[in-house]
Amino acid sequence: MEKIFGKPLITHDEIVHRIRELGIQITADYAQKNLILIGVLKGAYAFVADLSRAIGLPAGIDFIMTSTNAHGEKTISTPTMDLRSADVLVIEDIIDSGVTARVILEQLTKLGAESVKICALLDKPAGRKLDITADYIGFSVPNRFVIGYGLDYKNKYRTLPYIAVLDERAGS
Ligand code: 5GP
Ligand code: MG
Ligand code: MG
Repeated sequence: MEKIFGKPLITHDEIVHRIRELGIQITADYAQKNLILIGVLKGAYAFVADLSRAIGLPAGIDFIMTSTNAHGEKTISTPTMDLRSADVLVIEDIIDSGVTARVILEQLTKLGAESVKICALLDKPAGRKLDITADYIGFSVPNRFVIGYGLDYKNKYRTLPYIAVLDERAGS
């Protein structure tokens, strides 16, 4: 591993501990529900793997990807699972402007889900352009570009086991 990121903003131990707490909370909240977890690739891959195993319920699991169409609008891929009567929990890496989360909520609701909520590992409230809040949040981060634990810079650094602020040297 290249040692160019200095001190982690959020350590691996802090992530592990917080995911355990979120798992307990989600397990209690969805005990009587038909839970389907929908991870948003690629950024949420590590979070989905760890959070899903911290939830003590027989949840379904699916993934979507987001893209931007020719008109500059965000779109999402269609989940493979039937969401009708499901209680969907979207698992996101980070909520910044809130645009992606809004589109995901609208589109999954249209597919007939009973409920759609969002669990984001990171929340960057200073970046917000839409009035949207995640139902479950791992950590709040300052208005900086962060990488690691699934989050990339130019498709690298996703595999860092912690969250760090992007170091200028990473671009070289
Ligand atoms: P939005 O602005 O729509 O809320 O966030 C869209 C996406 O931008 C996020 O899902 C994430 O993939 C990316 N993003 C926003 N802030 C950051 C950041 O600090 N680091 C990384 N790696 N991606 C970010
Ligand atoms: Mg994302
Ligand atoms: Mg990215």
